[in-house]
Amino acid sequence: MEADALLDRRRSLLGAAAPLFYQRPLHLVRGEGVWLFDADGRRYLDAYNNVPHVGHCHPHVVDALCRQAATLNTHTRYLHETILDYDERLVANFEAALSMVHLCCSGTEANELALRIARACTGNAGVIVTDFAYHGNSKAIIELSSAYLGPEGLGKTVRTITIPDSYRLGPGVDPATAAEALAEGVAAAIASLADAQMKPAAILFDTVFATEGLPRLSPDCVAGAVEQVRAAGGLYIADEVQPGFGRMGNHMWGYQHYDVVPDLVTMGKPMGNGHPLAGVVGRAELINGFGGRGMYFNTFGGNPVACAVGLAVLEVIEQEGLVEKAHMVGEHLRVGLGALSQQHTMIGDVRGRGLFWGVEMVEDRASKAPATQATRAILNGMREHGVLIGTTGRDDSVLKIRPPMPFSIENADLLLATLDEVIAGL
Ligand code: PMP
Repeated sequence: MEADALLDRRRSLLGAAAPLFYQRPLHLVRGEGVWLFDADGRRYLDAYNNVPHVGHCHPHVVDALCRQAATLNTHTRYLHETILDYDERLVANFEAALSMVHLCCSGTEANELALRIARACTGNAGVIVTDFAYHGNSKAIIELSSAYLGPEGLGKTVRTITIPDSYRLGPGVDPATAAEALAEGVAAAIASLADAQMKPAAILFDTVFATEGLPRLSPDCVAGAVEQVRAAGGLYIADEVQPGFGRMGNHMWGYQHYDVVPDLVTMGKPMGNGHPLAGVVGRAELINGFGGRGMYFNTFGGNPVACAVGLAVLEVIEQEGLVEKAHMVGEHLRVGLGALSQQHTMIGDVRGRGLFWGVEMVEDRASKAPATQATRAILNGMREHGVLIGTTGRDDSVLKIRPPMPFSIENADLLLATLDEVIAGL
């Protein structure tokens, strides 16, 4: 009854464009670590949210936030140690070439700023993205978010490339053909820009290809695409909004899996554990080159409270060994999800690493036809059984598992057992 009343109020206030999760939407009132609690006191295992990166309401982060909020909150036009302490600590997590940073409030703003920097510094207008991507909601960014284009459509300066579907390459096909196919796509995108008297300012992609359904991509494949764009005068912008801050295990950043250092890196979601904190890290000549042509000021971006929170997040990642833990628990999930795929023929493919997994559901393994409806049923079944996951991919047929980083072996076992039960009960 209470949920129905909230739904009614929401519909009349937020309208048609505000999405909600689940057939029976959740009314959450409290979070702690990897757990969420609803208004009836029922507990849910959070295996979906990457924003509460170090765990919901982590006491060290909450304490840092409260202490700084009770002392001073201004903006970056005054000197303040915490801003510099955070920036130093953040850039220390990157290769030496990536030494400067601008902070802002959302992944959208980070991508928009990176694109402005790339355009200003290269003098080029074009941008190359994948054909099923999401990078944010501003006009410039929604026009390149090919998976969720708005009424504005694809921007005139945007060209798309298709990321080869690693699961459907076909029997006996050499994975090297994926690199060839991608290279042809990038060449076509550059040629199409040239036809319109444009050159690429950048190639921009999510380094785990989360919206695309987490396809496996070899380091060579990615390196080749970046090289082509660089040869045509463009930069490489790595979107780390989803994979960043150690989620993939062993590495702090998703791009490190491919062995190519980006020119600009954008970050958001997990950076402030729920506090609006995002940013762009890049090479000094790019950040300064852009600064030489104008200024960048963001009223709320990187204020002392945001920086105190960001610093606390980095401290927890380090103190609790969360990157190594993501690898360790991720390997347990690899084995567990692999075992489930032996039992359930509906599971066509299991992809991922660390604490980011995609489980692709198919009608049957011969046709590999996407089982979109079953995926939806599993998502809702998991919610009814007290485990929260998501879905992704071009056909929305990939279960998305992306829990907060303190996710333990025990939590992973509960997820696996529940998934087993829900699939068996379909
Ligand atoms: N990039 C990626 C890869 C994302 O997943 C998102 C958000 N889902 C964004 C950018 C935009 O971030 P924000 O919602 O903070 O603007």
